Amino acid sequence: MKIEIIKCLQDNYAYIIIDETNGLSIVIDPSESKPIIDYVEKNKLNLKFILNTHHHFDHVGGNKELKKKYNLQVIGFEGDKNRIPEIDITLIDKEIWRNKNFEAKIYHIPGHTSGHICYHFFKQNILFTGDTLFSLGCGRIFEGTYKEMFSSLQLIKSLPLDTKIYCGHEYTLKNSDFCINYDKENSTLKDKIKLIKNKLDNNLPTIPTTIKEELECNIFLRAKDVKSFSKLRDLKDKF
Ligand code: ZN
Ligand code: FE
Repeated sequence: MKIEIIKCLQDNYAYIIIDETNGLSIVIDPSESKPIIDYVEKNKLNLKFILNTHHHFDHVGGNKELKKKYNLQVIGFEGDKNRIPEIDITLIDKEIWRNKNFEAKIYHIPGHTSGHICYHFFKQNILFTGDTLFSLGCGRIFEGTYKEMFSSLQLIKSLPLDTKIYCGHEYTLKNSDFCINYDKENSTLKDKIKLIKNKLDNNLPTIPTTIKEELECNIFLRAKDVKSFSKLRDLKDKF
């Protein structure tokens, strides 16, 4: 499996997962259709599915046009079936979705929205976290509670340390300013910031990250309890 990172809109990432044995492909959270179509056409892929992490426009904006063009199927959370455009297949918490060589376990991780899910391709150990976990940050709490968001992050933390994380936005540098401000002595974080700046200077994404790196550097994952997590989330909203 190959993963291609596709820049969309201002700072979104969509991801195309390609089964190189047959060209069958999936796109995660197509914010818009054009950059996806460009890549699919150029590489002669057979785009079969859209997997959505949540219903926000910058994650589902390409659904309609891509479905029309490729006659693909749209997949999302059962609880969001009325607000994910063009949804065909609904999934529930802890369900395993399979098609040919694709295999992913779904986890319901509310907080950013009430119907947010992540997709864990456990055979490759790759996780698509949408707007719940970012590199060095986490999503704003729009529909859920602090407690829900905290538990969702604990669930992600329980996955294998070498799990690769692909998130919905390139927010890493801005997030790093916040982390270092409240975690000044963290030398692993300092090293990571150097690498982040280097990647961005060379016009490269800072994604993927790993659970291990986030446990070491992401202040939201380092929070011990809901209370300290909530405080950090409030500070970040005003940062
Ligand atoms: Zn969102
Ligand atoms: Fe988003």
